[in-house]
Amino acid sequence: MSVEPARDEGVASVANEGEKVMPKGTDYLLTNTLARPRLLIVDDQTVNIRVLHEIFNELYDVFMATSGESALQQVTRFPPDLILLDVMMPGIDGLEVCRRLKASEETAHIPVIFITAHHQVDDELAGFEAGAVDFISKPINPVIVKVRVNTHMALKRQSDLLKSIAMVDGLTGVANRRRFDEVWPQQCRFCQEIQQPLTLMMIDVDFFKRYNDAYGHQAGDDALRKVASTLSQTFEGAFDPPAITDPPIAEAGSVMPMVARYGGEEFACILPGVDHEGARHWAERLLNAIRALHISHQGAPKGYLTLSLGVAVTTSGQMAAQALIEQADQALYECKAAGRDNFCLHDEAMDISAGPSMG
Ligand SMILES: [Mg+2]
Repeated sequence: MSVEPARDEGVASVANEGEKVMPKGTDYLLTNTLARPRLLIVDDQTVNIRVLHEIFNELYDVFMATSGESALQQVTRFPPDLILLDVMMPGIDGLEVCRRLKASEETAHIPVIFITAHHQVDDELAGFEAGAVDFISKPINPVIVKVRVNTHMALKRQSDLLKSIAMVDGLTGVANRRRFDEVWPQQCRFCQEIQQPLTLMMIDVDFFKRYNDAYGHQAGDDALRKVASTLSQTFEGAFDPPAITDPPIAEAGSVMPMVARYGGEEFACILPGVDHEGARHWAERLLNAIRALHISHQGAPKGYLTLSLGVAVTTSGQMAAQALIEQADQALYECKAAGRDNFCLHDEAMDISAGPSMG
């Protein structure tokens, strides 16, 4: 019998899994739904863990914890898709673990199935009140436990998939505005917490109305698709998740860059861990990548499609999420006014500086 990850924390195996579900340069939520489902088994008796591990080892990536404390820690750092939770444990018991999970916005969506030796109605009621979706009684019947867990796992994965589809821009395939609005305040909080800089870029396709007028909306859509995929590809492989390791990453994928369609021909890039110097570097790279596409645009002075970028950077972490968006917007406006095909950087000193290629 192979129960190799039976160590309490399971941190080593969890860390490896974390890498697997976080391909570089992509959005965690979207890739996570394609990864193998993650099952967390919590029980103070390792013999019970062994039995369940045997049953689910082939279907899921199985993780384990032998105490409520350890379970809560693991769930926050590497959220599983489903939790099998023993009720009776020394220290924080199963009911309390479940209550705490349900009380937190980040973990409330994870289904919890209680494993209990009690068969009293009152016990089941207490479990459902704590937020469980189901009960499995000991001694464990492998067939019953398998069916119940598989059913709830399938429901959870379906809901994740729907959620991720609702967060993708239908035209370009990058994150949509709803996703941006969800991620941006989280990133602001996260970067402040870990005291890392954060860059926001607002990106506009130059003379896009003229492009549509000249080539038609079909061609306009094609151009937006090309721009979106080029923006995403530019960041691919360039961000290493372990770059921010101390304090530990609170949520897998939090240090990933994100490209979103903000609306119309406007895109937004969130670049965690990127300071002023990095922002200038990335702005130049994005501008060059789009220039290199050489998308013919007779309505533009240069004869091909270009971008304007408004960039805002915070290094203190004190900047409010909304204020940074306004700064990036203002920088974008300045960039447009100064002739486009360039970037403007708005820093905390409130002065705007143009990119080197301006003029
Ligand atoms: Mg127990």
